[in-house]
Amino acid sequence: MLSALFHEHPLSPMAHDDDPHYRILETNADARDDWARRRRKGIPTDKNLLVIACMDERIPVEQALGLELGDAQIYRNAGGKVTDDVIRSAALTVNFFDTREIIVINHTDCGMMSASDEAVLEGLEQAAGGPLEDVPLNPAIPELNLGDASLADWVYMTDDIDQACQEQVGHLREHPLIPDSVDVHGYVYEVESGELRRPGERIGEDISERL
Ligand SMILES: [Zn+2]
Repeated sequence: MLSALFHEHPLSPMAHDDDPHYRILETNADARDDWARRRRKGIPTDKNLLVIACMDERIPVEQALGLELGDAQIYRNAGGKVTDDVIRSAALTVNFFDTREIIVINHTDCGMMSASDEAVLEGLEQAAGGPLEDVPLNPAIPELNLGDASLADWVYMTDDIDQACQEQVGHLREHPLIPDSVDVHGYVYEVESGELRRPGERIGEDISERL
């Protein structure tokens, strides 16, 4: 009987609401809705995490931290530095999106250690065709320029990557827009070994010499 078969089919409109197949479909539909609307629904990242990392092409940020799609927000810039826009992004996510942890990833052989301040400033001035004091730093806020501030501070070149990593963590921990309850940690990714280490913990060197 065709009508009987129809009634037994799990997708039949006559199937009962607590049919297991329906429950799976409902769960999947809910999950898709949560994914598509997670910001509007106030759903945080799966690990309540923001990662700030250097943009260097050798840093596999997700792999190094074991992150899946949806786990974290990731901000990458030259050097993995806490710039004004990192503060903007961090302030928004920790205060409005329930992000509770920030991880900074810097790395060995960073391009920020590959030239002197002077060489970089000279190159940028050449690109701009003159002094940089009045060059707008944000297209939306043309009046925001360096003024009397140090261009070298803005470019953020680096002498020591471990020290730089600790400084970025300090900037975030001390910033008034980042609540004290947010955990902030930093790691140095070693491009030579593919491993993360805490800043200052160069284990390889430590165990290669007599105590
Ligand atoms: Zn780098």
